[in-house]
Amino acid sequence: MAKITLSKLAHSYGANPQNEADFALKEMDHVWEDRQAYALLGPSGCGKTTLLNIISGLLAPSHGQVLFDDKDVTHAPTTARNIAQVFQFPVVYDTMSVRDNLAFPLRNRGMDAAYIQSRVARIAELIGMEDVLAQKAQGLSADAKQKISLGRGLVREDVNAILFDEPLTVIDPAMKWALRTQLKSLHGEFGHTMIYVTHDQTEALTFADKVVVMLEGRVVQIGTPEALFEAPGHTFVGHFIGSPGMNFLDATIEGQQAIIDGQMIALGAHYGALSGRTQIGIRPEFIRLNKKEGLPAIISRVEDVGRHKIVRAQVFGHAFNCIAPEGMEISADVMYVTFDPARISVFADDWRVEPNVKKAAA
Ligand code: ATP
Repeated sequence: MAKITLSKLAHSYGANPQNEADFALKEMDHVWEDRQAYALLGPSGCGKTTLLNIISGLLAPSHGQVLFDDKDVTHAPTTARNIAQVFQFPVVYDTMSVRDNLAFPLRNRGMDAAYIQSRVARIAELIGMEDVLAQKAQGLSADAKQKISLGRGLVREDVNAILFDEPLTVIDPAMKWALRTQLKSLHGEFGHTMIYVTHDQTEALTFADKVVVMLEGRVVQIGTPEALFEAPGHTFVGHFIGSPGMNFLDATIEGQQAIIDGQMIALGAHYGALSGRTQIGIRPEFIRLNKKEGLPAIISRVEDVGRHKIVRAQVFGHAFNCIAPEGMEISADVMYVTFDPARISVFADDWRVEPNVKKAAA
């Protein structure tokens, strides 16, 4: 297992990058800790696969370095990096049995037969294939074959890292949940450094200790699922995480107040002078709908999702989502919204602004 350091790492697929736009990955400096489970999350085209391929050695970066612990592996081939990989589509040997497929990476390294037997049994149990170990992979469903691929990725205990590239895409939805949970418990048991690429926030949040959120070739935040929810570092993280995502309103920030269209909104802390486009962000969970006070909200739709209601509204002409308790009566036309001041985030030019601690404490 290894710590992974990305040092001044950037990548351009073209030969002569002239400006930032020419880089599929903009320059980044990160240390990904040993034994942690990371998810790389972001929309299509944001650079997840490019970054994963640089870490695995399938792609040499045009700029910067990759270190495994303190060893520079920037130009080392995949085979020299001692990693396991699981791809989006199954990679299995059709003519081999499920058992031999799972044992293959261990036999290849000359492991002891008794160890191979017990390790294969453990992995087969994890992926729910104990009963078909003797069967040939040929003829199994795509779903089952992908479970074998996952098992082969997990079978070695001595790897530096295990890299997963959208591994559950072909898996049946009911099984997805079970496998995700098993992967998480396996990580708890063996503590491999894991990197898991996905564009699905549920997958990322249930799997990872830390989620690396990417946008347009940049890492915009690395944080625990809780940190991404509570304190998004960028408006994109606010939008992308949560269901529905965070609401944003343009506002002027003055000390401990936000001003929108002449209306004052109390903030939970004091902010210094800000420049650029300033916005407040509030999650649908922390908005209170009522009939008397706050900002007017024109209700456009109410979705009853069982545990609560999602109320779609317009506030100052912006689409705005609120979560209301299941039993609450929602008027058809206009209601008002108030916000929990402690739950309001402030952003300047899309980046989170931390409050002025000294003044807030005074
Ligand atoms: P997806 O979720 O769709 O796989 P991604 O987040 O993994 O997307 P990448 O595949 O890393 O994104 O692509 C990042 C950017 O680099 C995109 O603009 C893409 O068009 C570009 N790109 C990817 N591979 C190449 C390549 N071989 N040559 C040139 N440009 C590429």
